[in-house]
Amino acid sequence: MAVEQILILIKPDGIRKSLTGNVLTKLSQLEMAIIGAKVVKVSKELAEAHYYQLKDKPFFGELLDYIQGRIYGGETWDRVLAFVYQGVDAVARTRKIVGLTNPEEADPISIRGSYGRITTKGVYENVIHCSSDVSEAEREIKLWFKPQEIVRKIYATKKIEVNKEEKIVWE
Ligand code: UDP
Ligand code: MG
Repeated sequence: MAVEQILILIKPDGIRKSLTGNVLTKLSQLEMAIIGAKVVKVSKELAEAHYYQLKDKPFFGELLDYIQGRIYGGETWDRVLAFVYQGVDAVARTRKIVGLTNPEEADPISIRGSYGRITTKGVYENVIHCSSDVSEAEREIKLWFKPQEIVRKIYATKKIEVNKEEKIVWE
């Protein structure tokens, strides 16, 4: 039993379907603490960095459009909600209630099983992202959040000087 952090994203389909409240209610069953939260308009660079492990997959282009909300057209749904949660065994417990990647294979009462779908283009629109393991969680949290945006000290930081001003960044 270890206290862990996890990055959770409510993806553009979750926002578009007005599922934010439902998803947060399901997550609250785990009694974890929210230690960071924000709305993010996802750039192509951030999308590519987030999903770098999937860059050779045939669906990578579609996946980038999905996480940026571009598949819904225009700028109406071009955002995600990003959260850092902290709790005991956060990663495994969250993955369990989030459910399998493919919403058709996910437990029907999991978040993805309840609310996900497969688009006609074959993308798994599965409402929510959560980090797959503790080291991915650290990489993803450092990618999406600055140290000052998280209310607990979770990873080592360092001070750097930019234009004669001191800044605190991830080490
Ligand atoms: N994905 C997809 N088709 C696949 C595999 C993945 O559309 O065959 C999408 C899906 O939205 C998934 C994301 O790519 O959530 C990242 O894939 P990963 O294998 O990391 O699954 P996750 O960690 O999200 O369960
Ligand atoms: Mg993953």
